[in-house]
Parts: sequence; C-alpha cells; structure tokens
Amino acid sequence: MNFEILVATNNAHKLKEIRQILSPHHITVYGMKDLNIDIGEVEENGKTYQENALIKALALQKVSKMPIIADDTGLEIVSMNNEPGLYTARYASSLGGHAEAFKDIFKRIEGKDRTAYFVCSIVLLNVEERPLKFEARIPGHIAKEVTFGDGFGYDPIFICDEVNKTYAEMGQEEKNRVSHRGKALNKLLTYLKINNLIY
Ligand code: IMP
Repeated sequence: MNFEILVATNNAHKLKEIRQILSPHHITVYGMKDLNIDIGEVEENGKTYQENALIKALALQKVSKMPIIADDTGLEIVSMNNEPGLYTARYASSLGGHAEAFKDIFKRIEGKDRTAYFVCSIVLLNVEERPLKFEARIPGHIAKEVTFGDGFGYDPIFICDEVNKTYAEMGQEEKNRVSHRGKALNKLLTYLKINNLIY
C-alpha cells in the first residue's frame, strides 16, 4: 500500500512540486482541498522557519491523524542582511506582488554582493510522537534581471549555483533535483526509507 501524506499548504505550486518529488516513491500526496479540509489563515509568527513550518503542521494536526508535512521557505540575500528571510512571503505581498519585490531587490543590491540562499524547512507530524524536521539551504545569487520560464514566487531571480540557472529557467524536474524543497524532501525520503515506511 502507498504511504499517504497530507500537505499543510494552500499554495498549488508547492503542492505540485511536493507531489512530483514524492509520488515516484510510492507516496500518495493529498492537499487540504483534496480532503475538503479548510483550516483558514494560520498566523506564521515563529522565530525560525522550523517554528513556522511546525505552526502550520500543528494547525492541520487538529483535524487529521494522517502523516502531515508543512514547509516554510525563505530567500536570504546577504547584502540585505539576509532579508527578506522569514518575511519572504510578507515582503512580496506588502509591496504588491513578486514583480514589485524584484524591482525593490534590484534597487537595494545594485553594485553590491548578490549572494543569496534559498532555505526550506519541512516538518513531518503524526509519524513519530515528536515532530521530525528536515532542512536545506541552497547557495545561489540574485540575477541581474528577471528571467522568464516556469516557476513561481522568486524563481525568476534566484540563480542556483549548482547549475548556474535561475529556477525559472530550469524545467520542473531539474528544479526538483537541485532546489531547496527538492533537497529537503530528499532528506525526508531517506528517513522514510531507513524506517521502512516506504520501499
Ligand atoms: P511560504 O513558505 O509559503 O511562506 O513562502 C514564502 C515565500 O517564498 C512566498 O513569497 C513564496 O512565493 C516564496 N517561495 C516559496 N517556495 C518557493 C520556490 O520554490 N521558489 C520561489 N519562491 C518560493
């Protein structure tokens, strides 16, 4: 039988990526909508990515006993003192969207170091008594201009050093192989395999 996981996100892009990465490993991935679950807006007021992921996962744990994962993601730009970091989502929404955020970033780091990191922290609940945590921090830099292609969020401006392309310029498969979310989920897959929860 497939291992089943419920994902604590309303972000369709994230869900799609998580499904693409996990389903080849005999894991059935459900979004909240698939199971008619609505937990409303969850306030992400944690002090770390892990705390925020845990807050989202715990909100869903109130209504489901299934294995649950939640992820929290942040873009850290070195010459902006590692901002927007924990505030990555709020930063774009406060400026009116990602396109405005790109303009603001380009202005603020003009002539400066463009080194950046994409961080993904994942929490898994309802497998062991304690929450399990998996994290990846991917080195890269901010592109000189917005690139076009696939992707969402900050994909058009984050160049991943491993392949020297923005996430948007990669196909989905390549992004999943090198991205913050792909690498964090691979750690989760290793845990599930070692514990014979998947084969
Ligand atoms: P959250 O983890 O859902 O709070 O997302 C934080 C912010 O990071 C949002 O602005 C997302 O659009 C953005 N984000 C999350 N994952 C990715 C990704 O894989 N690529 C680019 N941006 C992302």
